[in-house]
Amino acid sequence: MGAKVYYRGLLEFSNRCRSDCYYCGIRKSNSKVERYTLSEEEIVAVALRCAEEGYGSLMLQSGERRDEAFIASLERVVRRIKAETRSAALPNGLGLSLCVGEQSREVYERLRAAGAHRYLLRIETSSPEIFARLHPRGQSFAERVACIDTLSDLGYLVGTGVMIGLPGQTVDDLADDILFFRDHRIDMVGMGPYIPHADTPMAGCAAEYAKRKREQLHLTLKMIAAVRLALPDVNIAATTALQAIHPFGREWGIRFGANIVMPLVTPASVRKSYRLYDGKPCLDDAPGACLGCLSDRVVMTGRKVGVNEWGDAPHWMHSREAP
Ligand code: SAH
Repeated sequence: MGAKVYYRGLLEFSNRCRSDCYYCGIRKSNSKVERYTLSEEEIVAVALRCAEEGYGSLMLQSGERRDEAFIASLERVVRRIKAETRSAALPNGLGLSLCVGEQSREVYERLRAAGAHRYLLRIETSSPEIFARLHPRGQSFAERVACIDTLSDLGYLVGTGVMIGLPGQTVDDLADDILFFRDHRIDMVGMGPYIPHADTPMAGCAAEYAKRKREQLHLTLKMIAAVRLALPDVNIAATTALQAIHPFGREWGIRFGANIVMPLVTPASVRKSYRLYDGKPCLDDAPGACLGCLSDRVVMTGRKVGVNEWGDAPHWMHSREAP
């Protein structure tokens, strides 16, 4: 994959959520969370700043909502970002990835037509049994898999991923996760350690987590290395959760085979309200601080930043007909 590491600015634009995942801090039932949704103006302003600063790509992530007001607003934002971030340096505008959960085929189609060309939807685990233990009855593993296949069908570059160190998860399960990525022709992989959040039904995992933190860091790094060996031409992210578990977790991620980093570009005023797990780093950073800090971190690993480049995974071209 070469020496370059590519950026995806990560904008967490809303923490409102209809889902109730047992591990996640912004689940619907967590009434301690102050809910927010950024305005279209605010989202576009962040995108423009990212384009100016050379990020190349932006990921819009939020809790899950399926109402028409939310979808229509997101569609408008995607169109505006694609139109307004075009420049000599970025002739096709910012590369846009979405991470807004399970949606209907029609919604995925609309967002693709608006200009988003990548979509991240984590499978969380390829084991249907573990998935069932992590989610309420209405959220189904089969539905998640069907969404991933639909996204692929519609011509998105598709990202998925898993949490590592989930209760009851074995090394065999992790090996199956890699086979899932292969069999579903996944282009991008985002994996991180599972980190307990105090205000969730899985808060009881915290003591075990504290004991096994180091082991979990190593297991996550080995998963990155194993995915890189098994699927040489996919993009792999060194995730924020890796840094949450160790101050240099992301650098280690890059050294073990990751080629994507995701600087947080969420406005400082709402960052504290998008806590999926406890101990999330960078909550107090000034906006823009993440870029300089991460560039230094990438250079420390002996790699280069792909400034103003989309950095799409070659896997996409290898595995499909040209669009
Ligand atoms: N609503 C969007 C975004 C989910 S948040 C969607 O459904 O796709 C992005 C990812 O954060 C999740 O897919 C999950 O893998 C991860 N995550 C959530 N809670 C976590 C926790 N406690 N520890 C580690 N990762 C977590």
